[in-house]
Amino acid sequence: MLRYTLDILMIITGRTRTIGIFGYPVEHTLSPAMHNTAFEHLGLDYCYLPFLVRPDALQHAVEAIRALSLVGVNITVPHKEAVIPFLDEVSSEAAFIGAVNTLVNKDGRLTGYNTDGRGFMLSLAARGIEVSGRKILVVGAGGAARAVSYYLSEKAERLAIYNRGREKLRQLVDDLSKVRANVSAVEELCGIEQFDIIVNATSLGLDPDDPLPFDPASLTGKHVVCDLIYRKTPLLANAEKQGCIAVDGLGMLLYQGVLAFELWTSATAPVEVMKKALLARLNL
Ligand code: NDP
Repeated sequence: MLRYTLDILMIITGRTRTIGIFGYPVEHTLSPAMHNTAFEHLGLDYCYLPFLVRPDALQHAVEAIRALSLVGVNITVPHKEAVIPFLDEVSSEAAFIGAVNTLVNKDGRLTGYNTDGRGFMLSLAARGIEVSGRKILVVGAGGAARAVSYYLSEKAERLAIYNRGREKLRQLVDDLSKVRANVSAVEELCGIEQFDIIVNATSLGLDPDDPLPFDPASLTGKHVVCDLIYRKTPLLANAEKQGCIAVDGLGMLLYQGVLAFELWTSATAPVEVMKKALLARLNL
């Protein structure tokens, strides 16, 4: 019997079932803390490990999920799109988004899911933010923007999307327009105060020297500004100064994990415990 000391004392036995995360790099991931704390809290005999998977080794790594009888894995940058051809099945939302962040291994059959978009919606609900009937602007058209736009457009009165790169913007709006009637592209980031909820789904803000993805100066207390980056970005600090409700991406990270946990274990995820583990890792 081997003992690993995390924040918790985890006992690994011959019966322990393994879940992991494939990424490159992977060392900054917060998911092991969140999931291992949850397993410990519920007394579930699982452990969650990071796996550094080089892009040229992704197919072998996916085959290893079957070979090693892993319960499943999370998939993170840069493998979310590249993993799809190696799977047996993808859920409808992952197929639309074109990216998978969660794999489930059921008797050797691998199914890919994307829990990011629903995770974002749950994070808004947890803050009491209503999406139905609202006018929403998403800035960005990458994988995260596709995930949140898919779910936001299901409820919003109108969803507008802006992106620097026009080809990706057009592709996202064309794809969404096949299943929704309330989606349009915007050419310029002006008049943003006409929207109720504005979401930064670009990577601008990851580097403190980045410019703001848009200027929140015209926004007021009736606006909600969301950033998918999971800390208080300069955008969110500015939005708060304008009196807006500011929502960072920590809730999305938490709830995508909650949904993945429930896919793997069929247990109800201990949300507050997982949130505390994330906050502790971030020293918040
Ligand atoms: P992608 O690489 O797929 O997309 C990046 C997006 O950012 C594109 O729309 C890109 O525009 C835009 N962008 C990048 N640099 C600039 C720039 N200098 N000026 C304007 N636009 C720019 O990344 P993801 O969609 O996967 O991730 C986007 C953000 O969401 C990241 O910050 C990531 O950390 C966060 N995220 C958070 C999650 C959570 O759980 N909280 C989950 C997943 C992602 P263009 O097409 O023009 O290049």
